[in-house]
Amino acid sequence: MSSDSNGETLQQEERGGGGSTDDPRTQGQAKNGCRGELRTMLVPVFSLKLNHRINPRMVTVGKYDGIHPCLTAATQAGKVFIHNPHIRSQRVVANHLLQGGLDSDTYLLNINQNVSCLTAGILNPTLGHDTLLVGTQTNLLAYDVHNNSDVFYKEVADGANAVVLGQLGDISCPLAIIGGNCTLQGFDKEGNDLFWTVTGDNVRSLALCDFDGDGKKELLAGSEDFDIRVFKNAEIVAEMSETEIITALCHMHGSRFGYALANGTVGVYDRATRYWRIKSKNHAMSIHAFDLNSDGVCELITGWSNGKIDARSDRTGEVIFKDNFTSSVAGIVEEDYRMDGQTQLICCSTEGEVRGYLPASWEMKGNLMDTNAEQDLIRELSQRKQNLLLELRNYEENSKVALNALGGDGDGQMGIIPANTQLQTGLSVNMGTANQSPHVELNISTFNDTIIRAVLIFAEGIFNGESHVVHPSAHNLSGQIQVPIIPPKDVPVDLHIKAFVGYRNSIQFHVFELTRQLPRFSMYALRTPGTAPETQSYVTFTISDRMQRVVMWMNQNFLLAEDIECPNAPLEVCFMSLRDGGQLSIRMNMNGEITIRTEDIDLTGEIIQSLALFLVIEDLQVEADFPDYFEELHQILVQLDGYHSVHQKLTAEMADHSNLVRSLLIRAEDSRLMGDVTNMKKGYMELYDLNRDLVNGYKIRCNNHTELLSCLRAVNQAIQRAGRLRVGKPKTQVVSACRDAIKNNNINALFKIIRAGSTSS
Ligand code: CA
Ligand code: CA
Repeated sequence: MSSDSNGETLQQEERGGGGSTDDPRTQGQAKNGCRGELRTMLVPVFSLKLNHRINPRMVTVGKYDGIHPCLTAATQAGKVFIHNPHIRSQRVVANHLLQGGLDSDTYLLNINQNVSCLTAGILNPTLGHDTLLVGTQTNLLAYDVHNNSDVFYKEVADGANAVVLGQLGDISCPLAIIGGNCTLQGFDKEGNDLFWTVTGDNVRSLALCDFDGDGKKELLAGSEDFDIRVFKNAEIVAEMSETEIITALCHMHGSRFGYALANGTVGVYDRATRYWRIKSKNHAMSIHAFDLNSDGVCELITGWSNGKIDARSDRTGEVIFKDNFTSSVAGIVEEDYRMDGQTQLICCSTEGEVRGYLPASWEMKGNLMDTNAEQDLIRELSQRKQNLLLELRNYEENSKVALNALGGDGDGQMGIIPANTQLQTGLSVNMGTANQSPHVELNISTFNDTIIRAVLIFAEGIFNGESHVVHPSAHNLSGQIQVPIIPPKDVPVDLHIKAFVGYRNSIQFHVFELTRQLPRFSMYALRTPGTAPETQSYVTFTISDRMQRVVMWMNQNFLLAEDIECPNAPLEVCFMSLRDGGQLSIRMNMNGEITIRTEDIDLTGEIIQSLALFLVIEDLQVEADFPDYFEELHQILVQLDGYHSVHQKLTAEMADHSNLVRSLLIRAEDSRLMGDVTNMKKGYMELYDLNRDLVNGYKIRCNNHTELLSCLRAVNQAIQRAGRLRVGKPKTQVVSACRDAIKNNNINALFKIIRAGSTSS
């Protein structure tokens, strides 16, 4: 699971978190451009100014008649505009479509609800043209723009935060796949949901990609719990933990894909290995794969919140092209928009500015940055020379000081440390004190008279930011530093440590660099069995592996003072959570039966997934009982039922009121026309009261909807948790059986499934 050590490059100057993506080299190149060297730069081949603001991340392009591409984007006030510069004569005015004005080539589609995602593409291959898909927090609309008709309009209780259209796994027809409140759902051209599953949290980004190279596509889903999950059919085949919400995903080529995080990070993965990433103080609004320098390989194109567009090499993250808009980028797509046989990269800003770029021609030899390879090389070499000279000067200074110290008073500013100086690191569990909570302790020490001036630790997701600096005050200097670490999640983390070692008076320090891995379950301290009451909740399953292998897994995944020995009797190992004092015990009988006891259902899932990965278990059936959690879930289901009926009642009431409004209005207007002021006044007073009731009713409906959503979310998470207790086929079966039980409102069956893993047993 180590990420940084897998050959990944991270631009060092940006590691601190506050840095920008501008690297000095590209700035230098921009200056060269200002000097006016005559070189062909990549310039837009067309630009447009659309009279609409564009919602970020909601831009697509569709051929709704099968021939003419139309730029399509969501705009404010629940509308979608369709830009069709190719056919000015054919206009459709009916149903959803409104005309944009006589001389305009944009149409407006009224959704009457805030749009949360949209895309276009082939949903029905027999039609020969694209279908537009528009998602909101309650519905998914598939729309045939050409025929001006709904293909389907589906209520989706979990909302649609992200949408992707394409073929998934073994399902032969294209699917409109949406990600919502902890769920993923895929609809075919008739609106049948052929795919449904749950995921850990709210989905924010989706992409299709042949992750495992078997020729069929997997679904990548990025969610608010910072995970990128890969679904092969309905089963999770890989999970990558990131450090922020995954706001965008895009397929590059093969098993390679780009991603963007809410904290300004963009990067590229190949399968589960991250190739590179960079972090900016701006936000990545949209990412897209496009071969801009015509070398046959797609670059990662990113549109930023400050209006910058950059194209980065898929292998290194190096910037090969950039341009600027005056406002934030809203979306990036590609299409032959001039219909001349050449595909352009099309970038749109939130202010409605659109630019199309053609890939570099062969004369440019991929030089999009107004520079050439020799200049680059000379600049790089002279920078290296500078660095080496600086280093040499430091060594000279140090040896002078050392010589002075040897010959003189011995209390000089010694910079050279003994050649045998060694840096040792240790990780241990610290149970904490009255004013320090329990934590994992990283102990760094030297074993001679040197001191550690400072320690820098780079690690993902465990500090506030990606780095942590320990810098003792001058009178506290010693050869030992303890750093408390509290990883918030149970994931293995690489700690990249830099320690500055020298003497009390040193000006120059020797820097030791090393990497330690924090095991996945480091926040659990070993305790003696029988010292705490047994928990009610447990899971039990049987494996065919030897106990020796389970012991090996424990030694690798827990932070233990010394390795556990494999007993010749049933194994029992107990832990205590450093986070909340919760108990955990793992017991294994000689017949391969394992029982895990803890009240923490998430932890149980993590342990089962980790163990299955280590032992290479493909399918694992598990029996589970979590009485407290099940009771909680039961309460939620009862609440959910209540909210559902309130929702129905309110909707009916609102319809009644709307009819009443209509008749009152007509009556009041009649009175006005007949000059009957008294009755007109009376009518409008009644209308006023009714309107107030309607507004209040709406508020109640909104609150009810919010509660309903949080209940649905809890139920979806419960299904996901029930799934994570199992592996392989049993896992998929549990998820789909749970969903059926909820659909049929069969609560007893639901709990039976969560407990037993199926309804049949
Ligand atoms: Ca595949
Ligand atoms: Ca390229």
